[in-house]
Amino acid sequence: MFDNQTYIGRFAPSPTGPLHLGSLYTALASFLDAKSQHGLWLLRIDDLDTPRNIAGATELILKTLEVFGLHWDGSVVYQSQSTKYYEEALQRLELSQLIYACQCSRKSLATDGPCYCGEKKLDLTLPHAYRVKITPKTIAFIDQLQGLISENRVDQTDFVIKRKDQIIAYQFAVVMDDHLQGITHVVRGYDLLASTSKQIYLQQLLGLTTPHYMHVPIIIDAHGFKLSKQTLAEGVDLNRPEQLLYELLGLLRQNPTIALRHASVQEQLSWGIAHWNPQALSDCQTITWA
Ligand SMILES: [Zn+2]
Repeated sequence: MFDNQTYIGRFAPSPTGPLHLGSLYTALASFLDAKSQHGLWLLRIDDLDTPRNIAGATELILKTLEVFGLHWDGSVVYQSQSTKYYEEALQRLELSQLIYACQCSRKSLATDGPCYCGEKKLDLTLPHAYRVKITPKTIAFIDQLQGLISENRVDQTDFVIKRKDQIIAYQFAVVMDDHLQGITHVVRGYDLLASTSKQIYLQQLLGLTTPHYMHVPIIIDAHGFKLSKQTLAEGVDLNRPEQLLYELLGLLRQNPTIALRHASVQEQLSWGIAHWNPQALSDCQTITWA
């Protein structure tokens, strides 16, 4: 889609509510990283988990990004448009016997122990999920901020890549989406670091390229809780974007100049791109927002 681009980044919010400070923080980091390297910054709406989607959230997310000057390249991509590609990849994995059907429920897993569906003959006319078979191996990668991450986390359990309710699971969808969009650089929150080895495992099974990863700190409140939709973090105030953008640059430890405090959104972003120094966040996992 975008030939000869050495940097293609993305921001991939779920339409489960308005953008709160924590997600805007990640969006800004990802935008500055892409633009400081003359890259493209794509926007993808992760709308596969339909029961969690909230009407109007997508429109609000797009408006918020526009108000904060975070203009994306190309048109918005919706996960729900890619179902065909997920199913094709799933079939390939099934033909290679790398996945198996599973009819365990959360309850049966809790009471009867781990899933042995791979060894059973199941009635496939009944609802079933798909799990990927895990071959124990160490997945290692260099995270641009967190350093060398070497995990054998993936060898713990065969994880679900298609849910019993027919929804493609997050890990699998993200791997396919990043591939379909030609993503070269993933900048996202530290809370997703634990997912990365699973995603790399899937990339390797599918023969896909692994992008560069950078996991930025997550914003926590004074009580140490992550700002998220679960903690009912409010959507950001769209009335004074300059003020919040200035604070976000500070939370990204970019040391914005005092003069920038009253500058326009565009001026602040231009400064942010020109001075982007992600290493200021090295080894940092959380930032407190008081
Ligand atoms: Zn099972």
